[in-house]
Amino acid sequence: MTTDLIQAPPAVGEPSAGAASDGRRILGLACRSCGRPQPLGAVYVCPACLGPLEVAYDPAVVRRVASRTAIESRPPGLWRYLELLPVDAPPARGLAVGSSPLVPAARLGAALGVDRLWLKDDTRNPSLSFKDRAVAVAAAKATELGIETLACASTGNLAGATAAAAAALGVPAYVFIPADLEPAKIDHALAYGATVVPIEGTYDDVNRLCLEIADETGWGFVNVNLRPFYAEGSKTLAFEIAEALGWRSPDVVVAPIASGALFTKVARGFAELADAGLIERRPIRFVGAQPAGCAPVATAWAGGGDVEPVRTPATFVRSLAIGNPADGRYALEVALASRGSIEAIDDLRTAAAIRQLATLEGIFAETAAGVTIGAVDAARMRGVIGNDEEVVALVTGNGLKTPDARRLGLDDPSSTPERPAGSPSAPIPPSLAAFEAWLETRS
Ligand SMILES: *Cc1c(COP(=O)(O)O)cnc(C)c1O
Repeated sequence: MTTDLIQAPPAVGEPSAGAASDGRRILGLACRSCGRPQPLGAVYVCPACLGPLEVAYDPAVVRRVASRTAIESRPPGLWRYLELLPVDAPPARGLAVGSSPLVPAARLGAALGVDRLWLKDDTRNPSLSFKDRAVAVAAAKATELGIETLACASTGNLAGATAAAAAALGVPAYVFIPADLEPAKIDHALAYGATVVPIEGTYDDVNRLCLEIADETGWGFVNVNLRPFYAEGSKTLAFEIAEALGWRSPDVVVAPIASGALFTKVARGFAELADAGLIERRPIRFVGAQPAGCAPVATAWAGGGDVEPVRTPATFVRSLAIGNPADGRYALEVALASRGSIEAIDDLRTAAAIRQLATLEGIFAETAAGVTIGAVDAARMRGVIGNDEEVVALVTGNGLKTPDARRLGLDDPSSTPERPAGSPSAPIPPSLAAFEAWLETRS
């Protein structure tokens, strides 16, 4: 686990006089539903209509201060894109997050019938998932706002990301999780010194409780009262993809959906790059991926109705098991408006996809990525993805977080309960003869 401190790029210069809205780049918060403005702060609900709040920028100012040259001159990490993020200056302390590789995936692409497939490999952030991006921005804002305790409601990866960020900043962390979470994720958060609070219930129960605790304590819940800033962190995936492609967008982006923040903000990220004049504006189709056992957005997409909550998620993809997604209807809008789709992938296909990704590309990813690779396949078969199109799939978490998924071996017909797919053979004596005899039995 890296604890490297980031090297801070220079702050954004004062914009020149004469701009609209007196030259401020960050205008404040605004309601996504009714548009009413709110001052910046640890708030997330519009007092007028109870809609979700998001960060509002002045696009004219962003366009003037953001440049490819400035971005390219900075050290790796998500603060390269400072002019497109909701902080005034890069934080003095924090983990080295972002600048993950965009890898060409020719072997997996061939298996899926996609000629030009790229994988955005976010298995290698400091706490091994893309959640480090969201937490980096929320934690930086918390520091600016003078908040001294970090907390979160987590389906697993956010627990580790919040705990790691708090450790690097030297502040306490409280992470609230459904009690049935994968042990590896609980141990991970504990290792950073966080206080882990298991709750009897689903993620939605945990989240509801955290809304009350946030009001009561004033702690900075990264995905509750700091949610407008947290969500902005996911945009950096779009920024990095565009930069890695030589400042342009791909034809299709495939991304997992839990709350829908990642999916909607990646779409927003590409739009903001075009608004800022950093890339040409071209249509991008957005394909969302959900586990079939908890697929409220995919169900609404297929049925043409509203997003209806799923009460009891039934899937081994715990990182995506949000039955009542906060940004579900916005995720649905992104898929519809971009002529993409939302695919529901069953656990059997997900396990097979995890193995394809690992054995064809050398990337061991967690269950959410299996759902995403399954969605590439499903969308191509549906015709949403053409086989000659350029596709970027987001690999959002590391397989070491969900080792049980590998042991299931659901996809491998040669596996049995006694000898699951990919399990090691029985030990052999340390002699060449024993090895040769063993090799004989394998062929
Ligand atoms: C949280 C999570 C997601 C989805 O995030 P949302 O922004 O809530 O939709 C995807 N992949 C992994 C590995 C995650 O932990």
